[in-house]
Amino acid sequence: MKRKLSLLLCLIMIVSMVAGCTQEDETQPPAPDNTDNTPKAMMAPGTYTAEAYGFSMSWPDILSVTVSENEIESISFDEESGSTASMVDTVAATMFPRVLESQSVDVDIVSGATLTSLSARTAIEDCIKQALVAAGNEESTIAEFKKTQEKVGGSEELNTQVLVIGMGGGGTYTALRAAEEGADVLVIEKQGRYGGTTALTSEIQSINPPRVQEKYNNGEDFTDADAMYQAWTEYTEGDAKKEMLDLYFENSGLAFDWLALDHGAMFDFDPKPGFTPADWYKVKFQWYPNTSPEHPGAPTHGYNKREIASYFERLVDDFTALGGKYMLETEAYELISDDTGAVVGAKAKNRLTGIEYTIKADAVVIAT
Ligand SMILES: Cc1cc2nc3c(=O)[nH]c(=O)nc-3n(C[C@H](O)[C@H](O)[C@H](O)COP(=O)(O)OP(=O)(O)OC[C@H]3O[C@@H](n4cnc5c(N)ncnc54)[C@H](O)[C@@H]3O)c2cc1C
Repeated sequence: MKRKLSLLLCLIMIVSMVAGCTQEDETQPPAPDNTDNTPKAMMAPGTYTAEAYGFSMSWPDILSVTVSENEIESISFDEESGSTASMVDTVAATMFPRVLESQSVDVDIVSGATLTSLSARTAIEDCIKQALVAAGNEESTIAEFKKTQEKVGGSEELNTQVLVIGMGGGGTYTALRAAEEGADVLVIEKQGRYGGTTALTSEIQSINPPRVQEKYNNGEDFTDADAMYQAWTEYTEGDAKKEMLDLYFENSGLAFDWLALDHGAMFDFDPKPGFTPADWYKVKFQWYPNTSPEHPGAPTHGYNKREIASYFERLVDDFTALGGKYMLETEAYELISDDTGAVVGAKAKNRLTGIEYTIKADAVVIAT
């Protein structure tokens, strides 16, 4: 049990990576009933293209909108858009359906992909204006396609064994591991995408993962762990907490084995040294480079965010297959404590629907 707990803690601690955003298994709050959104102004049917600057100041996002006389029918990003690919995917999967469903440009943006959401909203509006003007209307008739959506509001109580707050690397790995142990797990994430900062990184640190070494390094250690431990202690001049160092040194290898060999995350299994004297040891595994034996011809470095996002999707699929649940765009804003001061849950709010959640849990993991 102690071992399992250590592994869980290590998963929270370990520096890591990935994103994604299909929401098939997401616990969906009820959608607001926004009836009669049919705009009255007519458009000239066709496909219109516009661009706006999102994450990149010098490379615009480009998108196309196809319309009928009075409906926005489809929206798609151009592959050449300037924003990070995984953000483009997130906005396409999350915000575009909101526009189509409500027939309004005035939809909530996707938190975690703010700049790309804003550029998309600007470009969609531009496309619709083009269609309106082409049908002989004034640009101002865009108002027909700018109706603010009402929020459902209200409150709900939820119960779970394990509540994980934050669905970046630490939160997702912890949730999956707890689900593997048979726990009933709920994760809440304030952004409209899972993966957190982890999804935007390029490599993960691990010290001598035993099974990976067995498979890819003739069973030999990648690095001298004792020397590295000594170097870290000296470099941090005693500031590094011994129990955290021990946890990292004892368990990061096991956690990495689990991620790479049990859940299909691919890395360059020829680790690179770190940046400082404290980690000038071979502990950095880059994501999915073409040196991975299973993936000849894959991207040449670990900076392909779309690939990293796909690993995250796989982890989340594994999690939901075990009955795990998650809610995006749901921010924890207060912890709930019992009389002894123990944390027994959290209060959270879904920013799309406005629903307030009181979530009670046997264990709460903060992975923010
Ligand atoms: C630009 C950049 C590049 C980096 N590159 C590397 C690298 O190559 N290698 C490396 O080892 N490390 C790298 N790091 C550090 C690494 O990203 C972090 O150490 C690691 O991702 C932390 O993982 P995490 O799960 O703790 O946090 P995150 O991945 O950030 O996840 C935290 C999640 O919690 C959510 N959250 C926060 N508050 C709440 C709330 N109140 N309610 C609900 N959800 C909430 C956030 O939205 C987020 O999704 C990099 C960091 C940055 C910023």
